[in-house]
Order: sequence, then structure tokens, then C-alpha cells
Amino acid sequence: MPEKTGYDVLVLGGGVAGCVLATRLSEDPSRSVCLVEAGPDYGPDRAKWPAKALDARVLPRDDVWEKQSAPYRIRAKVVGGSSCVNGCWHTWGSASDFAEWAALGGAGWSADSLGQFRRIVAEKMRLRAIPASELSVWSSSSLAAAAELGYPEDADMSAPGVGPGYGCPPVNAIGDLRWNVAFAYLDEARSRPNLRILSGATVNRLVLADGRVTGAEVDLAGEQVTLTADTYLLSAGTYGSPSVLLRSGIGPAEHLAEVGIRTVVDLPGVGANLVDHSCLVLPLTPTAELNAALLAKEEAGDLYASQVAIKAATEFCDEGAWDLHLLPTAGAPLFGTLPRGRYEVGIAAFLMKPASRGRLRLRSADYGVGPDIDPALFTDPDGRDLAVGRRGLELAAELAASAPLKAWASPRDETRPQDASDEHLRSRAGTYWHPIGTCALGDVVDGDAKVQGVENLHVIDASILPTIPRSNTQLPTLAVAEMLAGRLANR
Ligand SMILES: Cc1cc2nc3c(=O)[nH]c(=O)nc-3n(C[C@H](O)[C@H](O)[C@H](O)COP(=O)(O)OP(=O)(O)OC[C@H]3O[C@@H](n4cnc5c(N)ncnc54)[C@H](O)[C@@H]3O)c2cc1C
Repeated sequence: MPEKTGYDVLVLGGGVAGCVLATRLSEDPSRSVCLVEAGPDYGPDRAKWPAKALDARVLPRDDVWEKQSAPYRIRAKVVGGSSCVNGCWHTWGSASDFAEWAALGGAGWSADSLGQFRRIVAEKMRLRAIPASELSVWSSSSLAAAAELGYPEDADMSAPGVGPGYGCPPVNAIGDLRWNVAFAYLDEARSRPNLRILSGATVNRLVLADGRVTGAEVDLAGEQVTLTADTYLLSAGTYGSPSVLLRSGIGPAEHLAEVGIRTVVDLPGVGANLVDHSCLVLPLTPTAELNAALLAKEEAGDLYASQVAIKAATEFCDEGAWDLHLLPTAGAPLFGTLPRGRYEVGIAAFLMKPASRGRLRLRSADYGVGPDIDPALFTDPDGRDLAVGRRGLELAAELAASAPLKAWASPRDETRPQDASDEHLRSRAGTYWHPIGTCALGDVVDGDAKVQGVENLHVIDASILPTIPRSNTQLPTLAVAEMLAGRLANR
């Protein structure tokens, strides 16, 4: 039977935001909704999921867009999106983060408004605190080190914070089962007759006429189909959503001409303003005792590489906020392997309010060719990010030198961060995998997430966050999706 093509709402991208949108909008049985996702749909039966995707202790790398790629490009390709491959951490930003968003998007984007949705999300995602019994000796020593250095304890890092502090971010996990967004949201909606889920379906581009989208061209398991709807919600993520807009002729005219695409709406913000939390790591050499303690924890099936975050403020930070996350980590290497019983230990300094801005461009009009992504980490013209990064490494070294931690590990490299060259630091740059901003509120979408110049098209995912919050990005993305889903449902 040919695929049904006409719906009230098409949700294009079945990740973190897309699952919320499809679930919320199909609550009204009179509204037909179709969720379109390029990756597989493993469904509600846990037994059909790959074991690694269910294991909250690891970051799986199977259902991703590019198996071989620069680490910052890792992005999931599966119903449930990056919640199926991520670290399961939930933290929340500062009042100043939300003030920036509300100034562009209105009251719905304020700390108060999104705070309400944060509570709903926390319940759906079953956030749980980390009990002391789950901590590795490295994690419990890190908590002791932070206390010794005078950081205040932050009992719930997923709640609004008032400044620097330390704690264990709550996780969306039941025991060690990764409670991804497909389980948390979509499963309750799967049996609704007004919801269709199309997996293995890659959105090529949107077709526009007279300022409206008239169809979405989709590769459905090799067959080209055009799906139609009254309203189109693009939720393909920070790398996927601008790619679809650009292929549809919505973006900077100059760039579209370079790749041979006719401009339909000249929107310079599409693909611009890419921001990620950059990082530098202080590598440490574990003692034999630490390796042995970690091995025992691993054998007990209880080893998480990162359990502790310390929110720290440098002299560059706004009053009452923080501009660093310091993460003491100890576990299996994220990249590469080590012999059994040996672990990668370090303290990462993540820049939570970086000034550098990157961009995404198409390399080709062909949807089979991945985009050109330049996160441009540590490139701001004033060099502020490098200064914050150096300070972050100093604070990491201070932690490593504290009595609770120096008993377990020692710095691998004695070079002081102040003496390391800019080039050397840039060559060590990593990210927190929190890209945002490529379809930013204010530049590309309005407060209702409607794309400027197109009547019936909204973008709802991490790409519309206009400035990066001082937090991990899953919780704010979910809260924004809940807020906007409510608005669309009530129209
Ligand atoms: C390795 C990793 C670790 C992370 N750890 C954490 C963490 O611990 N805590 C935290 O808060 N955040 C974390 N994040 C970030 C968090 O997962 C993201 O901020 C969040 O998933 C963004 O949601 P989204 O809906 O914008 O995009 P996604 O969840 O990535 O969803 C986008 C979906 O769109 C689909 N798609 C894209 N293009 C197309 C197309 N053309 N056609 C059809 N479908 C398409 C994709 O396949 C994907 O399923 C991590 C991310 C990664 C990658």
C-alpha cells in the first residue's frame, strides 16, 4: 500500500525535541501527526534495543550519522536522538541565561516559564540523584576535594543554581537503564491511531510556494516520497535542521549560490552562530591503587566515568553565575582503548559561556553528503576563551593537588597552563557535545519558533537556542520543546 502522505503536522527529526513534539501534539485525537526520523526505531520492547544503547554507564557510538568523524560531530541517528547516546546528565542554567532568551523570545522563554516545564521534564525523564554507594572512589574523593577548596555543595544541579557549587548531576536512568526520550515520551503515544512514526526516513528538503511549505521530500528506505501537512515542525538538531533549511533554499543567499541552490528566503542566520561548550583536559596518571579500585567497581558493574561536576567562576564570569564545569573523570577511555584494569583519569575544564562562534555550511546540495561543520573552538578575536580555558586548567590543577585527590593520581604533564602556547591549547580542544544556535531565536525563528518569512514552518530543537546556557543542553532543549508544544497544541 502506498505511504499515506497528508497530515495535520509533520515532525521532521525524531530526537529529543521531536519525540516531545510528536507525543504532545498527538494527545488531541483529532490531529494527525507523522514523526519522520532518519535512523531506526527500536520500539517499546527493551529486548529489541542494542544492549549498549540501554546502558547509562557508556556513551554508545553505533546509531550515529558518521562512524568515523571528529569527536565534536558525534550526533545520534535513531528514534530518541542523542538521548540514546549521551551522558544522561541533567543540569540547569543561570538566571542570566534565561534573561538572554526572554529578551529575544518573550515571557515564555523566561527562567520562570521554562522552570515550570523543567519540573514536568524531570518527572517524565525520571531524573534520579546518585547515591553515595554508586560513587567510585575517584568521584567521592572529588566531592571531598571540592568541599576542601571551599566550593559550596549544590544538592540538585538540575534545579536553578545561584552560583558556583559542586555535586552529582542527576541522571535519567533507572538503575543503569538509560531512560531515553523515546521511552520517556513516545512510548505512551505509540498506539495512538493519529500518530504515524516513519523511521529510516531521511528528509531531503522542503518544497516552498508563496511563502508556505507545500511538502517535505523524504527518502523512505530508498524510495522518494513527498509528505504534506498543514504545519511542518523541523526538529533535526543543531546540525540537521540548518542542513534541511539550506537544502530548501532558506539561508544565506551567497552560500546557497555556492552550492547551486536557488534562494527562496534569504536568511543569513541559518548555519551561523554555532556554539558549543569547548574544553581542555588536565590528564592525570592514576596510582596502582586507583586502577585496582576502579577495576573492582567495573567488575561490580557500577563504573561511571563522570559522576561529579564543579561549577566554578573565573574573573571573566558575570556576578552570581559560573563559567566553568570542572569534571573529574576516571573510567574507560572515550576514544581508543586501554588494557583491562587500566583507566583514563583526568579533570576536564568545560567553558560554559564561550565567546567563540562557529558555523555550519553545506558541502553539496546532495542530502547524502554530510555538512561542513566548523565549531571554531577557542577562536574569539579577544582570546577570552583561551584565557578562561587556561584558568580552568589552573583550577583543575588545584583540585588535583588537593589532599583527597593527590593520593590517587598525579599530573602527567608539568607544563603550567600559563606557559602553554595558544596553538598547543587549541590542538587539545574538545567539546561537551552541546552544539546549539544554528537556527537561533531572533535570527532565524521568532518566539513561537516560526521561521522568518515562511508561514507554516517552525524549528524546535537545540538549534534555536540563541545563546548557550551554562548547563548541559538536553534539559533546556526538552523544556523549550514542552513549552512550544503547548503553544502549538493550543493554537
Ligand atoms: C555524545 C553526547 C553526549 C551528550 N551528553 C549529554 C548529557 O550528558 N547531558 C545533556 O544534557 N546533554 C548531553 N548531550 C547533548 C544532548 O543530547 C543534546 O543537546 C540534545 O539531544 C539535543 O536535542 P535535539 O532534539 O536538538 O537533537 P537530537 O536529539 O540530536 O535529535 C535530532 C534527530 O533528528 C534526526 N535527523 C537529523 N537530520 C535528519 C534528516 N535529514 N531527516 C530525518 N531525521 C533527521 C537525527 O537522526 C536525530 O534523531 C550529549 C550529546 C552527545 C552527542
